Amino acid sequence: MLKKENDTYQDSRTYAKDRDLNDPLGHFREKFIIPKDPNGDPLIYLCGNSLGLQPKKAREYIEEELTNWGERAVEGHFEAKVPWTEYHEILAKPMADILGAKPSEVVIMNTLTTNLHLMMVSFYQPTQKRHKILIESDAFPSDNYAVKSQIEQRGFDPEESLIFWKPRENEELCRLEDLEQIIEEQGDEIALLMIGNSNYYTGQRYPIKEITEMGHKAGCMVGFDLAHGAGNIVADLHDNGPDFAVWCTYKYLNSGPGSLGGCFVHERHANNRDLPRFTGWWGHKMDSRFNMRVDFDPIPGADGWQLSNPPILSMAPIRASLEIFAEAGFKNIRKKAIALTGYLEFLIENIGDERIHILTPRDPEQRGSQLSIQVKDADRSLFDGFMNAGIICDWREPDVIRVAPAPLYNSFEDVYEMSVRLRELLKGF
Ligand SMILES: *Cc1c(COP(=O)(O)O)cnc(C)c1O
Repeated sequence: MLKKENDTYQDSRTYAKDRDLNDPLGHFREKFIIPKDPNGDPLIYLCGNSLGLQPKKAREYIEEELTNWGERAVEGHFEAKVPWTEYHEILAKPMADILGAKPSEVVIMNTLTTNLHLMMVSFYQPTQKRHKILIESDAFPSDNYAVKSQIEQRGFDPEESLIFWKPRENEELCRLEDLEQIIEEQGDEIALLMIGNSNYYTGQRYPIKEITEMGHKAGCMVGFDLAHGAGNIVADLHDNGPDFAVWCTYKYLNSGPGSLGGCFVHERHANNRDLPRFTGWWGHKMDSRFNMRVDFDPIPGADGWQLSNPPILSMAPIRASLEIFAEAGFKNIRKKAIALTGYLEFLIENIGDERIHILTPRDPEQRGSQLSIQVKDADRSLFDGFMNAGIICDWREPDVIRVAPAPLYNSFEDVYEMSVRLRELLKGF
């Protein structure tokens, strides 16, 4: 099926425009604010993997809460159209649908790295024998720091307790069989597998089901950082069965800079009182939450990990964004993403420049929207050239440009236009 589509791609503006005309999700672009260049022309924004664009409704929903705060003040907790005490609950269902989870397994709270720490408080329980954490070698810096500090905090040494799943020499991607081998050799010493998915640098998506099964078979806990996965890849968290996952909402989920993160705790742990956790009043059952003198009695499920009453003004844009996801349907979004990224790949290859090498796997099953493009002998000036040409993407040292067409607001013509400008830029390089 996918192969066939690749065969029909054409390197022409007419083709790109035609695809846009026939795109059932095309009209969703209207729901976002597209940044413009100084001439007032829309930029080619391919940076949704870093900061998703603003849904137009975000402003309305923030203003709604400013009005509630102004007019109702403390009564807003119960009497706002969406009462503040329930605000996180209305986000759970659309969020869960995107990730293939049950609403009770999902909560929006805190920020990503904070959630990662909270999850490790519960799911990293080192013993003298089983004290290691396994991460992928090119993990995002924050995950690296978080994991190391958790290991140290429990009195272990990262030199011994932190192990890496690495690409082989002269390869960029991690192989599943190498992970299998590590688990075979050291599985009884590994307390936790913590994998960033998809990888922020290469765009490689790791198979959640297989990794979870491997880890569980060896008695390890398994967690995923879906910073680059949420709203991008099919995660099917409930069925695939990892113990936990964390993510942020400001990348593919378009919810605003530094917006709140999310947490998934698998249903099997919903009432697991053996897990240690850091606690706060918002994780306590609603009916006795305001009765200040009772012992901590957690809400079953992910909600029980909440600490504080949440920042409503930051949740308002999440509401705006998740409404769009719900309306479009994540299956449809993913379908368009496959076509759009496939088209981008086709066009870049069609440039036929030998200096270009795409790091990201070819197989759509093994990637999300992002392509990581390595340009031999390039330096940052190529990236500056991109920005000057009105293509917003991002640069990773030493020589990688990451581009991610976002299916909700990028068009086939965006992708086509990017390839035209890239072709021009490469001429002067
Ligand atoms: C974006 C990203 C983060 C950022 O963490 P914050 O706590 O939201 O600042 C962490 N980990 C990964 C893998 C990321 O891609």
